[in-house]
Amino acid sequence: MLPPEQVLFVASECAPFAKTGGLGDVVGALPKALRQLGFDARVIIPLYSGIRWDDLETLEGPLSVVVGGERRPFGVRLGRLPGSDVPVYFLEHHYFFDRDGIYGSAGEGYSDNLERFSFLSRASLELCRMLGWTPDVVHAHDWQTALVPLYLDTVMWGSSLYRLPCVFTIHNLAYQGVYGADALPVIGLGLEHFNAFELEHFGSLNLMKGAIYHATQLTTVSPTYAREIQTSAYGFGLDGVLRARGADLTGVLNGIDVDEWNPATDPNIAARFDERDLAGKAACKAALQREVGLPVAPELPLFGLVGRLTDQKGVDVLAEILDGLLELPLQFVLLGTGDPALERRFAASAERHPERFRAFLRFDDALAHRIEAGSDFFLMPSRFEPCGLNQLYSLRYGTLPIVRATGGLADTVVNYDEKAGSGTGFVFRDLYPGSLYSTIGWAVSTWYDRRPHVERMRHQAMVADFSWRRSALEYAELYRRAWSLRSGAQRGG
Ligand code: ADP
Repeated sequence: MLPPEQVLFVASECAPFAKTGGLGDVVGALPKALRQLGFDARVIIPLYSGIRWDDLETLEGPLSVVVGGERRPFGVRLGRLPGSDVPVYFLEHHYFFDRDGIYGSAGEGYSDNLERFSFLSRASLELCRMLGWTPDVVHAHDWQTALVPLYLDTVMWGSSLYRLPCVFTIHNLAYQGVYGADALPVIGLGLEHFNAFELEHFGSLNLMKGAIYHATQLTTVSPTYAREIQTSAYGFGLDGVLRARGADLTGVLNGIDVDEWNPATDPNIAARFDERDLAGKAACKAALQREVGLPVAPELPLFGLVGRLTDQKGVDVLAEILDGLLELPLQFVLLGTGDPALERRFAASAERHPERFRAFLRFDDALAHRIEAGSDFFLMPSRFEPCGLNQLYSLRYGTLPIVRATGGLADTVVNYDEKAGSGTGFVFRDLYPGSLYSTIGWAVSTWYDRRPHVERMRHQAMVADFSWRRSALEYAELYRRAWSLRSGAQRGG
């Protein structure tokens, strides 16, 4: 294989070791898919408390780096991503990482997060040096490792890692790593980098901005979100900076774990099914109705929703129209936690309409599987959605998503074409009570009046490919682009 073949992932999360969201899923899955394409992909994350050390191999050490003006010695342990031979190096620094949370506790971020993640970024590169391993490409993620592309271009001068190509992925633009200008000495870069192109943003230190400037290629987790974040409505103040690098910004959809979310093998659901035989799905619907306490009524369309109850997900608009919706001949089951005021509204609605609506205000992975399998339609009216997983699970389970045309939702759900009888879901543009209501009404009328279309759409949804292999092929192309932009000869010159 020609270069690039060696890829280093530096990240603050990696499932199943440490995860708070989609970032952890990507870092836990993508290196495995790359390995299957022939890449030597390796991961570096912190050794957080709660990660089991017993099976990890202790590497030679200690190493040390200077962060916040102090020399910080650290150890290194080596494990593998489960079910693969992808090496995962854990940086062992008890003071920084042996804590209750990954980013904070009791709703408060740790006050020394800048030190902690500067350390992660700096120490990862030091570890490569110690291992004598020079990857062809480094892949960094979100603000916590945003300093990686800066360090590669600066403090690594004189080493084989200097000016290595770096791909930087934005999973969540809302968190940018913003600190006061006086925090600059912590990261160990000089004042010459505190300028309007690199780290300075409206007088503050902004790590994400520095990465956007220094990374060789930039990505986010869906093509539509890649366009949206270049607009002021979605750019969280960095839209101008992202536009300046628009030619190097690509959206790559996340994959899903096709083993965990597979209706043909899922142990959580009442009966198994696949795109060739949907009899099991009807059994799942009946079992779900029974489990949640709704009338077992195959003729009624059953709507599901699983997710965080926050404004991001557009559920506040849903709450506004809920009583009206429940006058329609349908059933609805909701599983989610979040904003207490919204939780109360859903609970009160469920009390008013026990024959139509059930709300489960807790986190329950097995029930999430059963809602995906047993529902006919799935609601996801998000305000913004970088990629979104639930709509992908729904498609795989033949449950037609009803989504707003934003981010990954716009890229993965094909709107119903009433003439052709094709599509994989129902898509609306503006998040208003009226548009959400009429789109749900459209799904209900399709259920009652054009049932063969529902069957055809289910089939189309279930055969769509959202595997990590597909995403990995796209990342491989980006690594090639980054590598050719900064090939070995150019780096040396
Ligand atoms: P986000 O990352 O913005 O929360 P995604 O759709 O990308 O949204 O992923 C959400 C993940 O969390 C999915 O795997 C979903 O099934 C799961 N999830 C969210 N809330 C719950 C809940 N209350 N119970 C079970 N699973 C949940």
